[in-house]
Amino acid sequence: MGLGSSIIFKRADLSAILERIGSASVLGIQIPNGLKFYAGDIADFFRKRGHEVIFSGRATYGACDIDMELLREVDFLIHFAHTEMVQVERVIYIPYLVDYSIDVELIKKSIPERNLTIIGTASYAWKFDETKRELERVGFRVELKKGAGVEYPGQVLGCNYSCLKNTTSDVILFIGDGRFHPLGASLCTRKKVYSYSPLSGDVEVVDSEEFLKKRYMAISGAFESESFGILVSSKIGQKRLELAKNIQKLAHDRGKRAEIILVDEITPSVIDNFRFDTFVNTACPRIAFDDYSKYYGKIISPEEFKIVIGVKDISEYSLDFET
Ligand code: SF4
Repeated sequence: MGLGSSIIFKRADLSAILERIGSASVLGIQIPNGLKFYAGDIADFFRKRGHEVIFSGRATYGACDIDMELLREVDFLIHFAHTEMVQVERVIYIPYLVDYSIDVELIKKSIPERNLTIIGTASYAWKFDETKRELERVGFRVELKKGAGVEYPGQVLGCNYSCLKNTTSDVILFIGDGRFHPLGASLCTRKKVYSYSPLSGDVEVVDSEEFLKKRYMAISGAFESESFGILVSSKIGQKRLELAKNIQKLAHDRGKRAEIILVDEITPSVIDNFRFDTFVNTACPRIAFDDYSKYYGKIISPEEFKIVIGVKDISEYSLDFET
């Protein structure tokens, strides 16, 4: 298969990318695990054009994760499947854009409210101007706003729902796949959120109750903690050392032990040998929420930590996201 016809390159402006790369001798390539099977095609594509390539072995969950070590070894680093989050010189982003069409009649039948905001990940949001027009044609009033630090209007990240700031619509419509992003939108806005997958054709209302129950359990489990490990990722878009220091101070002020742990990738094995009662995750919010059980239920978010130490009341529960 020629890479020019493969899905990851399909909608990328290849001529602009090749022009920017010019006669660079070595390229670093960073791709998420789910797309690593394209590695051979990608290598062939660039090698035929006179460039050598070195792949990053990182999992690469998001644009927050730029392999800075690899960048030091190469002329350009090509980061696949995400839009730019942090500006880094010599890094070129090639997002993964899904081509799709929406079933407006199905959406109209499934959503009684007529005033909605559309959101989605970059893979879907790149087409939202057209999507908005289609929904308006069948009678919806559609809000579409661009958030901070993203490329497309309506684009959300697992840690960034800023396009929903001050939203005035009655409901939110998430277009795309997966449960985490619509759940995040529901928890950030406390509005009704519908999730529509153009690929499966399913429309459903997002239920955040189950998630909240689990989080309340995690918080109550941490109330008696005398010691905290504060996890900080060294990844360029996740590193929040200042926040970690603030958390440490809040804990120390209350006579608790609190130590900061810096590591590139936060995994369950990182916490295995530390003997802290509870870990506070300042890195990607999904680590505490998606992988809660893998951390023996001992991981909480910075906002949850504030509830545990009494700075915030549980009735003010919020997520640690940019909104
Ligand atoms: S911090 Fe997490 S949610 Fe945010 S971009 Fe990175 S991987 Fe995605």
